[in-house]
Amino acid sequence: MEIKKHIICAISAWIVLVTSSFTLNYTKAVKEQRRIATKTAKSVFDIIITTRLWNASHGGVYVAVDEKTQPNKYLKDPRRDIKVNDKLKLTKINPAFMTRQISEFAQKKEGILFHITGLKPINPQNNPNELEEQFLKEFEKGAKERGIFLKNEGKTYYFYMSPLKAKKECLKCHAWQGYKEDDIIGSISVTLPFVMRIPFAHLLIGHIIIGIFGLCGIIIAGNKLNNAYNTLKKQAVIDPLTLLPNRRSLFEHLSIEYRNCQRYNQPLSIIMFDIDNFKTYNDTYGHVKGDECLKKVAQTIKESLKRPGDFCARYGGEEFVVLLPDTSLEGALHVAERIRLNVKNLEIPHKKSPTQSVTLSLGVATTDGNTAISQDELIKCADIALYQAKQRGKDQVQAYKT
Ligand code: GH3
Ligand code: MG
Ligand code: MG
Repeated sequence: MEIKKHIICAISAWIVLVTSSFTLNYTKAVKEQRRIATKTAKSVFDIIITTRLWNASHGGVYVAVDEKTQPNKYLKDPRRDIKVNDKLKLTKINPAFMTRQISEFAQKKEGILFHITGLKPINPQNNPNELEEQFLKEFEKGAKERGIFLKNEGKTYYFYMSPLKAKKECLKCHAWQGYKEDDIIGSISVTLPFVMRIPFAHLLIGHIIIGIFGLCGIIIAGNKLNNAYNTLKKQAVIDPLTLLPNRRSLFEHLSIEYRNCQRYNQPLSIIMFDIDNFKTYNDTYGHVKGDECLKKVAQTIKESLKRPGDFCARYGGEEFVVLLPDTSLEGALHVAERIRLNVKNLEIPHKKSPTQSVTLSLGVATTDGNTAISQDELIKCADIALYQAKQRGKDQVQAYKT
């Protein structure tokens, strides 16, 4: 039972350990996913900022006007358009216009989306959406950057924003809006379509396999331990030769029966017996035969007991004890006589015995549950009766008489 409790504890601990490991690894993977997504988005963001600064440092750059690139109607610059000749017209691209064009380019190629936005945009195309507006307001309150995973049609995106601060170069175009150096003039939102996948299934299956292997190990080892423990427990109370309970077990049993007889005021009888002339039996037939004889006698004693509460044990050497709970002296004498006859009827030859076969001498003692006789005294009484049986010629039953 104790071992089973330990096995259950080990199984519970193992389950807690594997579950904790799974939770820990999963949490780590989620953190790693966010870290990588933020780092990637920030790199994209930084490249755009550098490109914009490069553009602003030149006060804008000129490109040829064509179908896709038309003059920027929001750019207030007297030198916005330059006509080189009839075939070539140039228009100035400022950082905002350049950002939008690169964004369209990147979206087609990589699927990365970025959007220049602000709370006071010059171009209405740069008006913030709901999320951008929320983050822009948080930047005004001091937030450094914001990132969030979004789901759209089963795909996961990472949406990232960081504030755009006004540099000297930016104020050439934005000063009229009231911005000063280092003011937040807006932001660029970066949407990454590729996000590191969390290996949820791998983690789960891996932990389930480890968990099952561990559980099997604990159960198999636990069972082996339990069996070994039970064997040891049995060996501690069983006599290996006769397979009857041993002396230690007898005393454990006697103290339980003795307490019961006192509590319920019931009689308790004890029979102590000894094989007659067993030394000469060993001397005549040898120890191996002697052991066989002991086994036969033990088996016969066991089979002679009828009630479930009756208990027999090997007391030592060729001596045995039977405990008969709730049995009067009369009843115990009857059982003792039955055992004596059953053993005699085995007719185990013993040519050095006056009876020519193996016999027993038996002593019986009884306590009625009222008298103040201790359990040790009860055994002593049975031993005295046994001695009397030996004295009066062996092969007989004697009762202890006070
Ligand atoms: P009594 O009739 O007075 O009881 O005489 P006894 O010879 O039976 O008694 P004694 O105590 O002199 O001898 C007991 C013998 O029992 C001694 C030993 O040879 C034998 N014996 C004790 N234990 C074992 C055992 O485990 N196996 C065998 N073969 N013999 C045993
Ligand atoms: Mg003896
Ligand atoms: Mg003897």
